Amino acid sequence: MVPRRLTGASDSFAGYRVRLVETLRARGIRDLAVLKAFAETPRHLFVPAAVQHRAYEDTALPIGNGQTISQPFTQARYLEALRLRGVERVLEIGTGSGYQTALLGAIAGTVFSVERVESLARAAQAALREAGVTNVSVLLGDGTLGWSAYAPYDAILVAAGGPDVPPPLVEQLASGGRLLIPLGERGAQVLTLVERGPGAELRHTPLGTARFVPLVGEHGFDG
Ligand code: SAH
Repeated sequence: MVPRRLTGASDSFAGYRVRLVETLRARGIRDLAVLKAFAETPRHLFVPAAVQHRAYEDTALPIGNGQTISQPFTQARYLEALRLRGVERVLEIGTGSGYQTALLGAIAGTVFSVERVESLARAAQAALREAGVTNVSVLLGDGTLGWSAYAPYDAILVAAGGPDVPPPLVEQLASGGRLLIPLGERGAQVLTLVERGPGAELRHTPLGTARFVPLVGEHGFDG
């Protein structure tokens, strides 16, 4: 069966989606797989009904529980930095709305995503189903512990800002793997790329400032 996501070009939001992709391209996103993922993923299914008319603006939007769906441009830069080629096993911490999970599903092999807020995890699962995304799994729990059952991961993306890299995530990163995490105080972080060499050695590269919601958990901030 063809996933509905791929046939969704005929839905009533298709024109807005094309415009969003043009905006991302104009702002410098070049990775064709990333642009294609934005062209095919129905963001309007992942935002609350009250803000659905703004679903394809290049802005962050509220998704409930004090959380936000990130700005598409920020997500696009994030996804580009992971350099996915379609076959990877990816761990995402902070499912939120599930939109970024769906984007990852479009450009990686399999995606495992952990969310600590139950209502968000449930809503994300429902939206992912409606969008026809079948290669992602969502776990309710503390993502600072990772998801050991499916480790190691070729890429790990943390969508909330923490004080340090949670040690379980480093343990669950494959050799040669890439981990992206906003590091720093609550409210102001540096988006950091952590690359694992063939052994256990790690290389940290700062990619720019970011402002994410706090990573709350055993190896994050207190709730
Ligand atoms: N990228 C998401 C937005 C993520 S917002 C989107 O496209 O919608 C960050 C999310 O991280 C929030 O939903 C928050 O509840 C979650 N979060 C924070 N700490 C977490 C933890 N320790 N484990 C799992 N999820 C966490």
